[in-house]
Amino acid sequence: MTRPELRIRTDRFVSNIAAVRERIAPSTLMVVLKDDAYGHGLRWAVDAATEAGVEWYGSYDVGSGVEARRVLGDTGRILAWVTSTDAEIDDALHDRIDLGVGSAEYLTRIVTRARAQGVRARVHLKIDTGLHRNGLLPEEWEQTIADVRAAEAAGHLELAGIWSHLAEASDAEDDDAQAVFLEAVRVAESSGPTPEALHLTASAASWWRPELRGSVSRIGAFCYGVRSADGPELDGVLPVAELIATVVTVRDDEAVIAIGSFDGIPSTLAGSHVGTTAGARELRRIDATTAVVAGWPGMRAGDPVWLFGAGEHGESSATTLAERIDTVGEEILTRLTSRVRRVVVA
Ligand SMILES: *Cc1c(COP(=O)(O)O)cnc(C)c1O
Repeated sequence: MTRPELRIRTDRFVSNIAAVRERIAPSTLMVVLKDDAYGHGLRWAVDAATEAGVEWYGSYDVGSGVEARRVLGDTGRILAWVTSTDAEIDDALHDRIDLGVGSAEYLTRIVTRARAQGVRARVHLKIDTGLHRNGLLPEEWEQTIADVRAAEAAGHLELAGIWSHLAEASDAEDDDAQAVFLEAVRVAESSGPTPEALHLTASAASWWRPELRGSVSRIGAFCYGVRSADGPELDGVLPVAELIATVVTVRDDEAVIAIGSFDGIPSTLAGSHVGTTAGARELRRIDATTAVVAGWPGMRAGDPVWLFGAGEHGESSATTLAERIDTVGEEILTRLTSRVRRVVVA
């Protein structure tokens, strides 16, 4: 093996999902799949999660939703929340993918496409609760709900969900966001049935703030065993992936390993530590396709070196490695390029 490997443990993913579901019950888990399942591989994630009984999937874009649908077949529910083109809307309607809607303009396009296709689009309306990242403003809400109810009556639409996204910057801000969210739900309920999926929280708030959870919780990071940077460890949640590179050359007091910035390793990681069979060693330099590690007695070409993961005395996870350069574990995982081979080991 000279290409680096991201070794992926399905058993960990499945036990993380179980821990998350137990923690958030009775809220239903929606496993978030964006960025190719946080770098682990979308098809693998959907397959394993479905096996574990997960029904809801959150894909950022329609394209990934379509890929998830290929794995799921007729079962499962998929939500794609980014504003999409008309062609993508058609794909979503064809593959029964729910659409997240954050503007009146997008809603109009969806109703138009659903009418043209003679199907009922399932939408989740997004209320802007303060993040200002796509979402209907509270002052637009009543009119939009009226438009939705009219499209429902005409048979083109079903209001399947109401949602928003929290800043998670402070509890007080998140409480205020929830108040705006609950008011939006109340307005919707006053003119029709309560949508089945009410969702506001992602990993951290779902885990730590039970009072903010809706009927569904959109969770990515914690399912993949990526805890919040500088956050506490989580009961029952373990890293799913380890990143391993092979020694290709040894010289004097250094080992050259086959991983570099072309694989997505940030050069700012120089100076942090990696795991070797003899314990932690300094990662001295990161070049394009190789990196230089401080040597150890008996080192040989072919030896494994752990950038993170279950290896010997190095960083235990993408998150602990990320903390060395003040970023988050997701950033390390999702930057890994396709040069890094994804290998499912358990
Ligand atoms: C990424 C994302 C999530 C999942 O966030 P995690 O912190 O990884 O659980 C949920 N909702 C939206 C809209 C997202 O973009």
